[in-house]
Amino acid sequence: MPVPSRVHAKIVARLRLVLLRLRLATAVFDCPRVARAAGVVLVLAAAIMAPAAQTPADVTDVDLARASRGVTVRIGSPGRGRDALDIPLELYVAQVLSAEGEPNAPEASAQALAVAIRTYALFNAGRHQKDGFDLCDTTHCQVLRASSAASRRAAQATLGLVLTYQGTPADLYYSASCGGHTERASDVWPKLSLPYLEAVEDDVHDNDPSWTLEKTLDEIRAALARAGVRGGRLEDVVVETRTASGRAGRVGLPGLDPASMNSNDFRLALGSTELRSTAFTLVRSGDRVTFTGRGYGHGVGMCVIGAGRRAARGETAAQILARYYPGLALEDVTRVRTGVAPRETALPPVLPVPPVPPVSGPPKAAYVRALVPAGSRTTAADLERMAGEAQTKLAQRLGVTASALTIRLHGSLDGFRRATGQPWWVSAAVRGREIDLAPAAVLDQRDGLDRAVARAVAEALLAPELDHRHVWIRVGGARYFTGGERPADARVRCPADADLTAAVSAAAQREAESRAEACFAQALARGDDWRAIR
Ligand SMILES: [Zn+2]
Ligand SMILES: [Zn+2]
Repeated sequence: MPVPSRVHAKIVARLRLVLLRLRLATAVFDCPRVARAAGVVLVLAAAIMAPAAQTPADVTDVDLARASRGVTVRIGSPGRGRDALDIPLELYVAQVLSAEGEPNAPEASAQALAVAIRTYALFNAGRHQKDGFDLCDTTHCQVLRASSAASRRAAQATLGLVLTYQGTPADLYYSASCGGHTERASDVWPKLSLPYLEAVEDDVHDNDPSWTLEKTLDEIRAALARAGVRGGRLEDVVVETRTASGRAGRVGLPGLDPASMNSNDFRLALGSTELRSTAFTLVRSGDRVTFTGRGYGHGVGMCVIGAGRRAARGETAAQILARYYPGLALEDVTRVRTGVAPRETALPPVLPVPPVPPVSGPPKAAYVRALVPAGSRTTAADLERMAGEAQTKLAQRLGVTASALTIRLHGSLDGFRRATGQPWWVSAAVRGREIDLAPAAVLDQRDGLDRAVARAVAEALLAPELDHRHVWIRVGGARYFTGGERPADARVRCPADADLTAAVSAAAQREAESRAEACFAQALARGDDWRAIR
């Protein structure tokens, strides 16, 4: 067996010790079961090694790509298999953790979630085989976002560790908040019976506020009709059975056909962000139904909020995992049989990237996916081309590698505001590798769609390098590198973060952005490299 690095060995040893104390199931290292991970490349001969002599705080995307040792997952968007992207496993873990984890989570819970994400990826890698990739980038599989320093650290600290059941990666789930009791998998998905996904008590939710949702019977009927339930008049809504965790099991719907359904299907029909969980009670008054509930999500497996609270009270990653997934073993992927053939791949585009000059020719644009409203004058292809060109130019200029981006052009200002939480005067919102744009007609009246796209792309490219720094550096840099390049003005005062993120008016926002650009220009004029600006 190849020798793992010291950092890695230490972490593994520590986790294993705790596991032994917790008497988790013994791993069966040589089970020859063929994994379902048809598309995942596991170079079994290569050890997953941490880069040598590096403090955890310094972990970069490139380190994680290297540490993946050729193990990649192919990520695509449903219906667009051609554009799938191979992402090194450990970088994928950091990127999903950045999207699915709690911001500012304690290290132990971030590490526990990193293990769950990695395990999920390996178990489910065959899921989109017919689409030509392993996993999609939506909530159907796992959502991705640019990695953060914390998510990279958590991936690094758990390099290669997965939860296994009988020697292969386990089929596991996690959700946002269980509200006090996790749910048995088979109570949500009746065909799924997994002994390590039982309902367990989670004693860290005592002070959680409950949520309420009020709907009329007719609104509920209409939502169910969209999900295929027939019948013209809903007479009542009743909880017919409760599951082991106390959640609603079957929901009775007298007057409709079928007259009862699984509460999970009921929740999905009403909208999973509206009816936040099935841990609800309900009261009907006339034609109004009031749901009062706890938690958010299906509640199966690890509870992300609960894991954070457990970490805050001193539990380790291994203890947290053992709590939510009793009976599973924690193992290194290189020791888990998966039965898949290696696939030759080049290192895919990653972000951020150290200042290495391009070896030959200009960098290629990474995959950009654009979503436009129906009937939009600007087509998705136009927008993808526009963003792709901006990305190629900027990536070369900044010495960073382009990464996959999703750009959503909104059809209405209301839609833009709802999706981003930004006031009407903001033109674009950039979160990780996702960009939301105000309607094209609105942008035309400002600096133009082109300029808005270029600035947003620049912000997305700059952000990973400027993690945890003042907002003006990112905003000012994005403006500076996309055409402003105004001369430095030595007298300008740099805007505070709040001036940019919570401006009180359109004029104040414009003024703060313009100061951000001037400050950026000033810092560059002093001879700083843009990466070093603070
Ligand atoms: Zn999927
Ligand atoms: Zn919980």
